[in-house]
Amino acid sequence: MNVLIVHAHPEPQSFTAALRDQAVQTLQAQGHTVNVSDLYAMHWNPVASAEDFSARDNPDYLVYALEQRLGVKTRSLAPDIQEELDKLLWADLLILNFPIYWFSVPAILKGWIDRVLVSGVCYGGKRFYDQGGLAGKKALVSVTLGGREHMFGEDAIHGPLEDMLRPLLRGTLAYVGLDVLPPFVAWHVPYISADAREQFLVGYHQRLENLDQDSPLVFPRLAQFDEALYPIR
Ligand SMILES: Cc1cc2nc3c(=O)[nH]c(=O)nc-3n(C[C@H](O)[C@H](O)[C@H](O)COP(=O)(O)OP(=O)(O)OC[C@H]3O[C@@H](n4cnc5c(N)ncnc54)[C@H](O)[C@@H]3O)c2cc1C
Repeated sequence: MNVLIVHAHPEPQSFTAALRDQAVQTLQAQGHTVNVSDLYAMHWNPVASAEDFSARDNPDYLVYALEQRLGVKTRSLAPDIQEELDKLLWADLLILNFPIYWFSVPAILKGWIDRVLVSGVCYGGKRFYDQGGLAGKKALVSVTLGGREHMFGEDAIHGPLEDMLRPLLRGTLAYVGLDVLPPFVAWHVPYISADAREQFLVGYHQRLENLDQDSPLVFPRLAQFDEALYPIR
């Protein structure tokens, strides 16, 4: 299996980086081919703009998604986007590895999503959810956070973790057709002992060794909706 890990943490020695290294080692030991996009190390530009296109369908008014479609067809996307898109299309499994920032992804990773998950390949028209352009591939989100496990859940102060990550799990990864595996979460990371952190690394190793036994989260399928996308009852 080909695996792309997109890693977003500003500190090379962070615990989040240790999770990335754990994934590389575990997956390579299983015979998988692993490629890492370390966004801070790459000085990844997260800002979607007109500069992302060397040719324009409409030079007078920027409709970003429409220009993405032309960019795909004519290979006129900015080289940094094209390179990441090629890695994404090569991968059977996408791992997003990051610390939670404000219930969400760090801005640099949001910018990877905005610029790399291009219309015309990953989504567009009726190409979404199970019909998304990346259907057949898997995605795993591995996150670190400051909060404690008991703060997340149905009656917990922050609500369920899957609700917090809904824009990512559903609105992004499932939307483009990926089979989204349940997230791997390392809780309360800065405040626990080194041993407790080590246990998260062991848990991640075990999880990665048994990924093929994971059932993906359940999301809508287009067959459940009519032409106008009203639910079929
Ligand atoms: C802008 C911002 C917004 C945030 N929003 C949220 C939020 O909404 N919700 C929330 O819960 N949290 C939030 N946080 C907290 C953040 O998610 C956590 O601080 C982060 O996930 C901790 O992971 P880390 O990799 O940065 O830890 P680090 O600080 O890098 O590491 C913690 C400790 O682990 C040690 N370590 C490194 N490698 C290893 C290893 N191999 N084995 C054992 N120990 C090791 C490090 O030396 C360090 O002492 C936010 C933080 C920021 C900056």
